[in-house]
Amino acid sequence: MKTRTKILIVGIDGLMIHRVIDSGRTMHLKSLRDTSYFVDTVVDMPTVSGPSWSTILTGQRQNVHGVIDNHFKNHKLADAPDLLTRALNSNSDLKTYAAAGWPPLIDPNDVGPVISDSRHLRFYNDGEKLGYLQVDEEVLNHALETIKNISPDLSFVYFCGVDEAGHKYGSVDTPYFDAAERIDGYLKSLHQLLVDSKDEWVLVVVTDHGHRDEGGHGGDSHQERASFVIGHGVNRDHPQWPDKLAPHELSDLILKLID
Ligand SMILES: [Zn+2]
Repeated sequence: MKTRTKILIVGIDGLMIHRVIDSGRTMHLKSLRDTSYFVDTVVDMPTVSGPSWSTILTGQRQNVHGVIDNHFKNHKLADAPDLLTRALNSNSDLKTYAAAGWPPLIDPNDVGPVISDSRHLRFYNDGEKLGYLQVDEEVLNHALETIKNISPDLSFVYFCGVDEAGHKYGSVDTPYFDAAERIDGYLKSLHQLLVDSKDEWVLVVVTDHGHRDEGGHGGDSHQERASFVIGHGVNRDHPQWPDKLAPHELSDLILKLID
């Protein structure tokens, strides 16, 4: 039997990848960007987490998923299942896992959520209340344990500390780069676990929008709309994905890898 590639998607909210790499503080992101599949992408307006993550995770744009802001009012996510759910719907033997600290992505008692199916292994806590310094670390520790012990076929692990720092302190000052360095370390730990597992993996790294220099996003400046996708093969080749990519096209590419 052919071994199936496993997928770990790491979502890093509000990450301006070239800026943080240029700061010299995120060596692991630099190495992934420079040695893997990499594409710069442009997210739809408004450049806000709810619509952008919905588009990335469901593979549909706002006209289908209906998430146009962070309130999720009148959303149509039932018509646009996330990629973990789509994977399970086509193969119920798969193990799927999501961990995140931004409640609308995953918390069944919040608005949305984008990932709502209770069949997935899930971890969540409220980073908006408790702060992402704490909750991102909880997400990391849960993800490390789960991937080590259960080795899910398809995982989404999300960190929000970079975005939090951008909102509080802007995206050109030290706290933004401190947060990026911290999450870069988390990414490195997760990556090492995949290497050690000896399984075949594709590690995907993606963001939902950038930031203005003074902090904040939502508008249509190049800086706010800039996103990217990294696809890094572990114990296998890097994925051969197109050199132009729109954010809503990513989830289909990922699902094809675990077909
Ligand atoms: Zn965001």
